[in-house]
Parts: sequence; C-alpha cells; structure tokens
Amino acid sequence: MWIDTHCHLDAPEFGENHALALDLRAQAATKNVAMCVLQGVMVANFDTVRLLAHHTRDAYALGIHPLFVPRAQDGDLELLDQALAEYRDDPRLVAVGEIGLDLFVPALLEPAMLARQQHFYRAQLKLAKKYSLPVILHVRRSADQVLKQLRAVAGPGGHWLGIAHAFNGSPQQAQAFLDLGLKLGFGGAMTFEAANQLRRLAASLPLEALVLETDAPDIPPHWLYTTAAQRAAGQPQGVNSPAELPRIGAVLAGLRGVPVEDVATATTRNALQALPRLRGLAEGWPA
Ligand code: ZN
Repeated sequence: MWIDTHCHLDAPEFGENHALALDLRAQAATKNVAMCVLQGVMVANFDTVRLLAHHTRDAYALGIHPLFVPRAQDGDLELLDQALAEYRDDPRLVAVGEIGLDLFVPALLEPAMLARQQHFYRAQLKLAKKYSLPVILHVRRSADQVLKQLRAVAGPGGHWLGIAHAFNGSPQQAQAFLDLGLKLGFGGAMTFEAANQLRRLAASLPLEALVLETDAPDIPPHWLYTTAAQRAAGQPQGVNSPAELPRIGAVLAGLRGVPVEDVATATTRNALQALPRLRGLAEGWPA
C-alpha cells in the first residue's frame, strides 16, 4: 500500500474536467496507491481540490503556494482562514499546504516580493497552529528561512507535524526538519543517477524520516523525462502521475538495499504520522 503525499491532480495538464487525472488516479489504484494528497495553491483552487479529493476518495490541503503569492490578494489570507473554519471537520482536509518560500524564481526574490512571501508563509503557519493542522512545505533554496519561521511560530520547544516536500537540502538541514517533528518528501528527483547528494540522503537518512510523493504533474521521474532538445525533436515528456509512485518507491528501496515491501510499509506509516487524519480515511493501514 502506497500514499502519494503530494500531487496536483487538479492541474491543467490533466485535461478538462480532470478527465486524464481520473484515468491516471484509477491506474494508480490498481498499483496499490491507496491515497493521494491534493494540494491547495491559491484561493481559486480550494473548491476544486476539495471536490476532487471527495470524488476520488483522497485527501487535500488548503494553502497559498509561494509561486502564487504574486497574484494573491491581501484578503486571500482571510479567505483561507474562513475556508479552514468551514471545512475543519471535513475528514479529508489533512493539512495547510502547499505553503513555504521559493528563493529560486528570480521574480520572487525582489525585496518587496520576498517580504510578501514571508508574510504569507508566516501567516499560514499561524493558521495551521490555530486549526491544529499539519503543514506541507515548499522549500526551494529556502530551507534555512523556512526553518527559521517554523521555529519562530512554534516557540521554544515547539513542534510541527507535516512534510518538507521535494526535500533537497543538506544533511544538517534534513536533521533540523526532523528535529521539529517533520518528515521529508522524496520523489522523482531521486530517480536521476546524477542526483548524487539527494540519493545519498535518501539512502542514509533513517527510514522513519521519509515519505514518498510524485508532485504530479511536476518533477517527472527519469523514465518519463525528456530533454528540451528531445521535446523539440518531437519526443514528448511522459505524464507524471500518482501511478508512478510504486516505481519511485522501488528506486528508494534499491538505493537503500531493502525489500520494496519494507519501503511501502514504512513510508505509508510515516505519512500517517505526518498527516494523522489520513488514518481515518481508509482501512488496512499498517499499525
Ligand atoms: Zn507541489
């Protein structure tokens, strides 16, 4: 049994009315992907992910993604607060996410936009505490800043539940997230042989630290990836979806030299710890 802890099934890449998303989600189910966690990215997709998660019997998070901060209105934080209040008893709402900081995209690094990112991130951390929900964190070139705010909002000795998604930091940064109580999300990036540092981390961190994700349709694993030149020559990239999760899990098992069943059980158990509401959504989970 597998859990895809991070995907964007509502993305436009998955077709009108989510037709392709529903197909691929059904394929994933035949490969024992028991649960997907759909991500909120902006106020305009809150209803979409909620309704889609109910339709596919999956889970969802609500939040304003750092890449969507430039088009977010000041009042969107208030709308998020209202949505969390309205759906706090919805068992399929499992986290505040996807939130965080992006220090990679140049436009987001302008001082005013950086301050706005920080403002949205910090306010959403406070909302997660207000509603006692875990957080799903976007951490791109921003681990130290993300950690700093986590510590500031939690206070001395404070802890968090949740996931640092698509983790790609140093061993010290990994340990800092783990010390706060978070799990680290690994996915398609780990499947590339050139990703030496990431693969070393995936192999050496305690198995209890890791959860799996596809981030579909983003971050395709190497078997779906084509270079820009190949795409220009008419060889399209394969569509990344939750159906790829077991194969990504098999890569992790290979890196660690353990049976794939052990990785499935452990990462599922870890996801249930990071996002405790998942446990109530299906039966037959590992204890
Ligand atoms: Zn994402």
